[in-house]
Amino acid sequence: MSKKYNFYAGPAILPSEVMQKAKDELLNYNGIDLSIMEISHRSKDFDEVITGAENKIRKFIGVPNNYSVMFLQGGASLQFGMIPMNLLNNGVSDYINTGAWAKKAIKEAKLFGKVNIAGTSEDENFNYIPTSLNLSSNAEYVHLTSNETIGGIQWQELPDTGDVPLIADMSSDIFSRKIDVSKYAMIYAGAQKNIGPSGVTLVIMRNDLIENGSKDLTTMLQYRTHKDKGSMYNTPPTFGIYIINLVMEWLESKGGISAMEEENNKKAKLLYTTIDENEMYYGTAKVRDRSKMNVTFRLKSEELEARFIKEATESGFIGLKGHRSVGGCRASIYNAMSFDGVKALVNFMNNFK
Ligand code: PMP
Repeated sequence: MSKKYNFYAGPAILPSEVMQKAKDELLNYNGIDLSIMEISHRSKDFDEVITGAENKIRKFIGVPNNYSVMFLQGGASLQFGMIPMNLLNNGVSDYINTGAWAKKAIKEAKLFGKVNIAGTSEDENFNYIPTSLNLSSNAEYVHLTSNETIGGIQWQELPDTGDVPLIADMSSDIFSRKIDVSKYAMIYAGAQKNIGPSGVTLVIMRNDLIENGSKDLTTMLQYRTHKDKGSMYNTPPTFGIYIINLVMEWLESKGGISAMEEENNKKAKLLYTTIDENEMYYGTAKVRDRSKMNVTFRLKSEELEARFIKEATESGFIGLKGHRSVGGCRASIYNAMSFDGVKALVNFMNNFK
């Protein structure tokens, strides 16, 4: 087992049990004397993997039957474009601008239709989730980023979008807390934080949206292609999906989403309390909107921050440097980071002071 504590924002820590199992069966999957990596995606063994991953995801967050679960490629970034390409058709869309990732989604949407910025926290450097929204009545959809990985802010309560489909980029907080999937028309997430390795994007989408999507697009960019072919129109990222299946197995073994949420609340509380009670550190996000996945904080000077990160790294606490666009420090405490890992970090922070 690794002696390092991994706080990278993504690709990020994976459960050690998952890594061990993947290692154990890397060369001989399921007794077939071959690796899962070197068998056909149409084989019975892989079919069980992808179906198993989908079924576990459906059960874990309660995906209704009228939604499809797809394993795509191109990262969450391709979704920034695929969503407006399929759903906007020169119409109006509402976007809520909460930071760097929302901005990237907005940039792509502008290529395919009108974008109404229904709310923004740019005035305060994206340190909060805007509450008063100016939603358009005729929008094709509303898009939000449920957790801004860089700024460390997270939606705590969903806006009411009425009949307008709500789309959420959940790249950095999917499977970390209970959600009501039926409140969303679409959820998407790059796998490399809470789901598995990079290279897979999970898309959960209501079937009517898929069916109504544009047909004038190259085959790979239409959601219906992936729905109709069970994510196997072309060769899917088989090894990534295999790891996702193991991660889902691990999540189930932890007691389901409620247990996961409780653990995440405990971890975040300990870390934020340490930041708040210790004059050496201060949080950058408004308390109400603090992310339970990406804890952003600063020290009194950049010199101190550099020293903090250097000494932390030397002590085995990896990945604490804030995103290059904002600086400071960030501890990403995804599902696979244990409470003991956060306790160890907190001890380090107290000692550093
Ligand atoms: N959205 C969010 C919230 C993210 O954190 C990231 C990546 N860190 C992305 C989108 C982009 O994901 P990808 O690199 O998979 O395209």
